[in-house]
Amino acid sequence: MSMRVKELLNIAETQMSESGVENPDVDSKLLYCYLRRIPKAKLILEYQVILEDYLCEEYFSLLDKRCAGIPLQYIIGRQGFMGFSFIVNEDVLIPRPDTEILVDNAVKVINENKIGDEQLPERGKGSFDVLDLGCGSGAIGVSIAKLCKTTKVTCSDISPEAVAVARKNAELNSVKIAFEEGDLFEPFKKARFRKKRFDMIISNPPYVRTGEIPYLQREIKDHEPLIALDGGDDGLKLYKRIIRQAPEFLKKDGILMFEIGAEQKDAVVEMLEKNGHYQDLHSLQDLAHFDRVVFARIKD
Ligand code: GLN
Repeated sequence: MSMRVKELLNIAETQMSESGVENPDVDSKLLYCYLRRIPKAKLILEYQVILEDYLCEEYFSLLDKRCAGIPLQYIIGRQGFMGFSFIVNEDVLIPRPDTEILVDNAVKVINENKIGDEQLPERGKGSFDVLDLGCGSGAIGVSIAKLCKTTKVTCSDISPEAVAVARKNAELNSVKIAFEEGDLFEPFKKARFRKKRFDMIISNPPYVRTGEIPYLQREIKDHEPLIALDGGDDGLKLYKRIIRQAPEFLKKDGILMFEIGAEQKDAVVEMLEKNGHYQDLHSLQDLAHFDRVVFARIKD
């Protein structure tokens, strides 16, 4: 049955709110824009258009997916991050606005040698080698490569499927990035990396406590990759491993930067302090005033 677009959107909004979708108004419109390949700004011009039967059917099948709890970003296959476009599918976590805080601050470290408002000690010139550890979609590494001209970025992930997505995102955003596949630092133990040390290791590791996962939104717990979320019983498993191993892979004044969960600052800072190889510990908050970023530098 053909239908006026305005009416179609109203039906979609009702069906979505009845299915517990969080932003039915926004999502109904974004699905339509995706179906018709139009920018959101053009949508208003289409409200009175009568949509042909087959397009209504296509729209309703997208709608049913969203109502079943599939995140909008996986349906449309894209997510914006730092003003760039990223391909996403169920093999990678959907990049979050929270993570932009991590990238913003990493860019400031690289381009201005500042953490927050604090000036860091002078560094040697030349290219800045960055490793995005557990890169997922590549959102962090690709954005840094776009925003910091003198960087050499490497992205690695344990999931070959995630590395494949990150590769596509480097291509989509026209940046040259090196890719490795394997569990944390395993790929960098190969002979050809034996002399390699990074200036910065940056990571948004899985940090949700295993016991919290069943209570996450259905969009997250049923569709996003568990391997990218599950941080073990205390949520800190990956931080422990990274903090222990990173000094071997960082230059003398190299930098380790993490995204952290809102309640993890004290535990992560304490691990860094106890380790003995780190100095200049900083933490930064996101726009909602939650602790979100931890920064440390290898002792000189
Ligand atoms: N911020 C994500 C969430 O709350 C978790 C990301 C992560 O574990 N690195 O779903």
